[in-house]
Amino acid sequence: MGDLIQCLDHGYVRLVDVMGSDLTVVNAARVSYAKESSELTERDIRLIKFLAREGHTSPFRHAIAQFEIYAPLMVARQWWKYIIGSAHAEGSGDSLDAWNESSRRYITEEPVFYVPRDDEWRSAPENSKQGSGGRLDEILDYHEIGELIHVYEQHIEQSIHLYERSLELGMCAEQARLFLPAYGMYVRWYWTASLQSVCHFLAQRLEHAAQKEIQEYAKAILELIKPHFPVAVGELLSD
Ligand SMILES: Cc1cc2nc3c(=O)[nH]c(=O)nc-3n(C[C@H](O)[C@H](O)[C@H](O)COP(=O)(O)OP(=O)(O)OC[C@H]3O[C@@H](n4cnc5c(N)ncnc54)[C@H](O)[C@@H]3O)c2cc1C
Repeated sequence: MGDLIQCLDHGYVRLVDVMGSDLTVVNAARVSYAKESSELTERDIRLIKFLAREGHTSPFRHAIAQFEIYAPLMVARQWWKYIIGSAHAEGSGDSLDAWNESSRRYITEEPVFYVPRDDEWRSAPENSKQGSGGRLDEILDYHEIGELIHVYEQHIEQSIHLYERSLELGMCAEQARLFLPAYGMYVRWYWTASLQSVCHFLAQRLEHAAQKEIQEYAKAILELIKPHFPVAVGELLSD
């Protein structure tokens, strides 16, 4: 099944498969001199550091990881922006990266929604360039927050009811899904990407400027990928 890390209230990241190791990066670079290492030496580690530092990125694209991710659509939407070399990028037929997602055109499984815990709701930021400020319970009292959460949960319940009712009445699934509040709805997808793409995603989404929810997923990706490429990941994320 592969290693799995839980994220948010219902989500997870699962490492489905990995191709390569730190040695893959080294040998992709050493082929220039028709050389190959059979085990990682200090010299090889210095080579990985050099490649990462100088931006010689192609050797990092010979190592591949495949993940299954279950996350609210708002997280998937941010993730999907990592398009270089991705199968969903126009004209990228030569890509090794890929993205395949469950579709509510075809499946009608019970929708699942992200509902932050009472203490996880955040206030509007003071600086509009940040996504959110501190805890919402620092500016609203317990009852006010409770009321908002109640309305949110009711909203989800009503939406599910309308969705199911429209399916019962014979509407197609691809349109019935319009009744579902999309941002918080969980979707499942496979993401296959080179080590360079994974580290580019991590470099941006582990940062405090990234939305907290996607940061949680980025931490899970890091925890799953790092043991397979300890040197390369460390070096690509060293800035
Ligand atoms: C905190 C934060 C806030 C964001 N807010 C927004 C937002 O409000 N709206 C929005 O639309 N997006 C937003 N984004 C997404 C952002 O604009 C990028 O689309 C996303 O971070 C993916 O990064 P990327 O473009 O580097 O990745 P990729 O598209 O995977 O590109 C990888 C790298 O390839 C190179 N590259 C890519 N395209 C080209 C090209 N055409 N020519 C030459 N080199 C290229 C660049 O070096 C690039 O860094 C945000 C991202 C973050 C982290």
